[in-house]
Amino acid sequence: MGRQTFELLVLGCASASPTSERYTSSQLLNICERYFLIDCGEGAQIQLRRYKARFQSIDNIFISHLHGDHFFGLPGLLSSMHLLGRQPGLTIHCPAPLKDIMDVMNKVSETRLSFPVTWNFTDNTGFNKLFEDDKVEVWSFPLSHRIACTGFLFREKPLQRKINKEALKRYRISFADIHLLKNGHDVTNEDGILIRNKEVTIDPAPSRSFAYCSDTIYNRNILEYIRGVDLLYHETTFLQDQAQRAAATFHTTAAQAAELARDAGAKQLLMGHYSARYTRLQDFLDEATPVFENCLLATDGKKITI
Ligand SMILES: [Zn+2]
Repeated sequence: MGRQTFELLVLGCASASPTSERYTSSQLLNICERYFLIDCGEGAQIQLRRYKARFQSIDNIFISHLHGDHFFGLPGLLSSMHLLGRQPGLTIHCPAPLKDIMDVMNKVSETRLSFPVTWNFTDNTGFNKLFEDDKVEVWSFPLSHRIACTGFLFREKPLQRKINKEALKRYRISFADIHLLKNGHDVTNEDGILIRNKEVTIDPAPSRSFAYCSDTIYNRNILEYIRGVDLLYHETTFLQDQAQRAAATFHTTAAQAAELARDAGAKQLLMGHYSARYTRLQDFLDEATPVFENCLLATDGKKITI
């Protein structure tokens, strides 16, 4: 059996303002058919349609901070969900003032959404669990930007151990015991024989993870939260030629993001949130790759499977 889905779709990769080729920040992450929308820049719903994503399947939206290029798409997306008669609830994980903004918009337009919204306010101090079910956990951690901003860590829960059927053949075993074995326990079967877990099970594939870091100044304090991730998305608003500007505006350069990916032991770095001044994205790869080999460029519509 193949592994369960763990797939990221880039919906927008521009910073500040959309261009004809790049929408502003938004990404859709599918882990085992749970759809997480991460940031919601202007027009995110158009991109969801363009790339044939099932936007009514989104049950959790994560907003990193309240600069417009990260949430201006939210009113439109919620409105379309409403107009399509959505019923299931939606949870929005975000800085608290976003609820006030949405409340005003709904009030002046006399809109009562067709579905309940649960607000889960983020706290940009510490490492906080925002979401958990039987397969996935999502955590927030502080980024350092001009206004309160959090990164997000999406992590598959440890998978169950695999049964080695050949090794288990010689024992009488119940379904309940198989369940215990899959969860790592030793069991004593009905014949009173102790069956050691390591004799009859195999390690599962390691659980996968994705970290999202936008927007932030180069900040080594995030390393503890993103250690060993399979895929690190880190903003690269600028190249080193604008390092001073990056620092002044609380953004990061491609070379700096590559350093963080390398020092965190990430397997891959995805770059994005490019300043509109850059038209040749290859320059980001050229700058980052000598520091960290495994770099990818976010472009609108790009899919990455982990
Ligand atoms: Zn931004």
